[in-house]
Amino acid sequence: MTSDFKMGGVSIKKGQRSKIELAVSSLYDGTDLSIPVEVVRGKEDGPVLFISAAIHGDEINGTEIVSRILKNKSLKKLKGVLIAIPVVNIFGFNMLSRYLPDRRDLNRSFPGSLKGSLAARLANIFMKEIVKKSTHGIDLHTGAIHRTNLPQIRACLSNAEAKRLAIEFGVPVILNSTIRDGSLREAARRRDIPMLLFEGGEALRFDEKIIQIGMQGCFSVMQSIGMLPKKKHDVRREIFISWGTQWLRSPTSGLIHNLKEIGAHVKEGDILGVITDQFGTSRGEIIAPFEGIIIGQLQLPLVNGGDALYHVASFHNTRKVQKSIKQIEEDIYQSFYD
Ligand SMILES: [Zn+2]
Repeated sequence: MTSDFKMGGVSIKKGQRSKIELAVSSLYDGTDLSIPVEVVRGKEDGPVLFISAAIHGDEINGTEIVSRILKNKSLKKLKGVLIAIPVVNIFGFNMLSRYLPDRRDLNRSFPGSLKGSLAARLANIFMKEIVKKSTHGIDLHTGAIHRTNLPQIRACLSNAEAKRLAIEFGVPVILNSTIRDGSLREAARRRDIPMLLFEGGEALRFDEKIIQIGMQGCFSVMQSIGMLPKKKHDVRREIFISWGTQWLRSPTSGLIHNLKEIGAHVKEGDILGVITDQFGTSRGEIIAPFEGIIIGQLQLPLVNGGDALYHVASFHNTRKVQKSIKQIEEDIYQSFYD
C-alpha cells in the first residue's frame, strides 16, 4: 500500500483516524446527504478491511457492532487500514426501511453507475471510495423485518481466502451462498476481494448476544489477516458448512404458534408450528421435510398462506452443530460476567 491513503479527497496519515462524509445526494429540501465513514489507519502498513452495516437501512444491529469495534482499545495496535461504515443506506436508515426512496434494494444494485438510479449511484460511490481500496470486507446484516436469523456467515466458499476467513469468524453455521446478481458480495468477488456476510438477529432491533458474536467475529478476522495481534488463548469452536437450506412456507393463513425456536435441531417429520384461526381452531401444521437446524424464523404471529416461516439448514452432523451453537451462547454469557 502506498503511504498515501485517501477517502473522499481527504488524506489519512499513518496513526491517524478520521471521520469522513462521502457526499451522495440531497433531500427534497436540498439538505446534503452523505455516508458517514470512519477510517482508522495503523502506524504500520497492512491489509485494508472495510466493515459495513445497514446496506439494508433497517438492519441496525450491525451499526452497533461497528460502533463498538470503533471504541475498542485494541485498534491502537492496528496494522493497515480499517474502513468502518456504520450505515451505508442512510436513506433507509432514516426511514426505518430496508430500501431506498425509489423502493430499490441497494444490495441488488452493485456495482452501480455514475448516472444510474439513486441506488446505482450510491453503489457506485461505495465501490469507488471503499471496495476498490480494500483487500478484505465484512458486510453485516440481520433478518428482514419481522424475521430473525441465527448468527451465520455467508460466503463464496470457492474462494479459498473467503472460506478461510468464514471459518476464522468463528460462528458455527456457514452457508455457501450462491452469488446474487447485483449484491455487494458479487461486486467484491469480481474484483477478487474476499468478503464475508454476517447475518444475525432481527431488523430494527439491537440483540446483545448477536452484537457480541458479530464483534468477536470481526476481531477474529482482523487477527487472522494480520491487522491485530493474535490472542494468546484462542478458543476454537467447531464450524459447520451447510449443504443446503430451505424456507418452509405457511400452508394457509392464520396465526402461527411456534413449537420450535430459532437454533433448534429438528428431525424429519417434526411439527415446527401450528396455524390456527383466531378462535384457536387448527388450520394446518408446518412439518420439517428433513433433519436440520432452524437458522431463520418469522417473529410476527400473523401469517398469510405462502409466507416464509422457518429457514432450515441441513448439515452432515446436525447434533454436533447444535452443540457448537450452545457452546457459543455459553461463551457469550460467560463473557458478560468476566
Ligand atoms: Zn440484509
